[in-house]
Amino acid sequence: MQKRRTFIKNTGLLLGVAAILPLYSFKPNYKKKKLGVCLVGLGQYSREQLAPALQLTNHCELKGIVTGTPSKIPIWQQKYGILDKNVYSYETMDAIANNPEIDVIYIVLPTGLHAKYAIKAANAGKHVWCEKPMAKTEEECKAIIAACNKNKVKLSIGYRLQHEPNTQQLIKWGKTRSYGAIKTVKSEVGFFVGKHKKTWRSTQELGGGLIYDVGVYTVNGIRYTTGEEPIAVTAHHKNTRPEIFTEIPETTTFTLDFASGIKGYGKTTAAERTNILRADCENGWYELSPFHEYSGIKGKTSDGILLNTVIENQQAKQMDEDALTIIQDSPVLVPGENGMKDIAIVEAINKAASTGEKVFLN
Ligand code: NAD
Repeated sequence: MQKRRTFIKNTGLLLGVAAILPLYSFKPNYKKKKLGVCLVGLGQYSREQLAPALQLTNHCELKGIVTGTPSKIPIWQQKYGILDKNVYSYETMDAIANNPEIDVIYIVLPTGLHAKYAIKAANAGKHVWCEKPMAKTEEECKAIIAACNKNKVKLSIGYRLQHEPNTQQLIKWGKTRSYGAIKTVKSEVGFFVGKHKKTWRSTQELGGGLIYDVGVYTVNGIRYTTGEEPIAVTAHHKNTRPEIFTEIPETTTFTLDFASGIKGYGKTTAAERTNILRADCENGWYELSPFHEYSGIKGKTSDGILLNTVIENQQAKQMDEDALTIIQDSPVLVPGENGMKDIAIVEAINKAASTGEKVFLN
């Protein structure tokens, strides 16, 4: 036990250093040191997280924007020095193909629009970063992957947590089965929504509800904790306040069965606050709580280890690491296939909840 504590402590230290110092050895086989990034969709996530995070990156520069709202253009140009020639609308974005200043197109739109614009981005010959959830259906995910392959561009899904050091420690313990065989994994994201507010997230067409928006974190969390793929799903939707949740369920609970015998228990809810990813194993347990905030991811274990490595900015780390895979032509951390597996499982969760039957996965 002492040995493991020392090892973990050292690993924690290393991760702490990694958070401050760039670990990357720069391999200059790409013309530019910094990749030009174009954000598509200037909503809350672009405005409050990605654009500020881009200012902290070593390998990216915010060069372009695609928006359908002209009033946003001068605000973004003034704040980030974006040139007129790098401003596009959804109708003109195909012309990015002729813009050498833009290397990466980052899709930050409602989920139901990801496939259409990610495919446009790939067809413009630019590398594609696509926010989670990757798309509404597995078929759409396949079409995005095919477009990126056809155009020989890289595709990364914006799962910032897979770049986060405390999460990476949990993934390592899963890989090495440091606490013995994993028996169950619990993964929950919930917050309290008190009144009806119609946004794209609350529609089936563009959002698909919590099981897409935050549900993909719970599914992804169970998958990266176990390192295994589920074979079957059972699920239930619950709605105690239909006056607020008119189109989407308030709560979804699901169970993932794994061939190894592991059970994954997931929950997304707008009825209570919860934010936990926990593995119960033969010889102990470990958990992150919260596991999916923008900062302050922390955890503990049955033998008293604390996980609390702090990094400056999750999105900056994610984008820098994804940029380096382009610069160095190395494999991306979260490829389209990874995002697609979550969407296939979310579709199975919805099917299981609506039929009441167990759904088997391919
Ligand atoms: P938002 O509603 O704040 O922004 C959506 C943007 O899309 C707006 O600028 C809107 O004008 C534009 N848009 C274009 N066509 C639209 C249409 N037909 N209907 C509605 N909006 C349209 O949403 P957001 O919070 O910025 O989320 C955008 C994406 O980012 C989603 O995929 C979401 O899941 C993802 N996201 C990821 C994280 C993360 O931690 N990785 C966090 C938040 C959001």
